[in-house]
Amino acid sequence: MADVTQATGFKRVQVLFREGRIEEGTLLLKALQDEYIALCDENSTLKRQLTEVADVLDLAQNVAYDGQKYWLEDGNERKGPFCQLCYDREGLLIHLQPHGKHWECQSCKSLFMTTKKETHAERKRVSPQFPLVLGHELG
Ligand SMILES: [Zn+2]
Repeated sequence: MADVTQATGFKRVQVLFREGRIEEGTLLLKALQDEYIALCDENSTLKRQLTEVADVLDLAQNVAYDGQKYWLEDGNERKGPFCQLCYDREGLLIHLQPHGKHWECQSCKSLFMTTKKETHAERKRVSPQFPLVLGHELG
């Protein structure tokens, strides 16, 4: 109940000043000020943590799994793909890099097969349910 303590403290400061006990009042005021600054710091830390949690929840709602990799759906935009292993293991969205007929994760070195629709110009317009191209991955 920090605010109750502070309210009591401020009243006490008022009394001290009224009684002419300036030095005591000043010391108490200084202590209250320090306490207030600490509370402000704590408050902004909590706010930041709350925002981070909200971002993670928001992110989780927009992450789509295509059977191999993850994609981030942001309105009409589709970003990715991202590594399935890294996201499942660490909660990190690691961009996959085109590597021949595969997508490669630079972090864990996993390879994911590239589907026909993901190649070249069509990469930006992948439909949510594109078929996987199996076999013939080595060339
Ligand atoms: Zn990875």
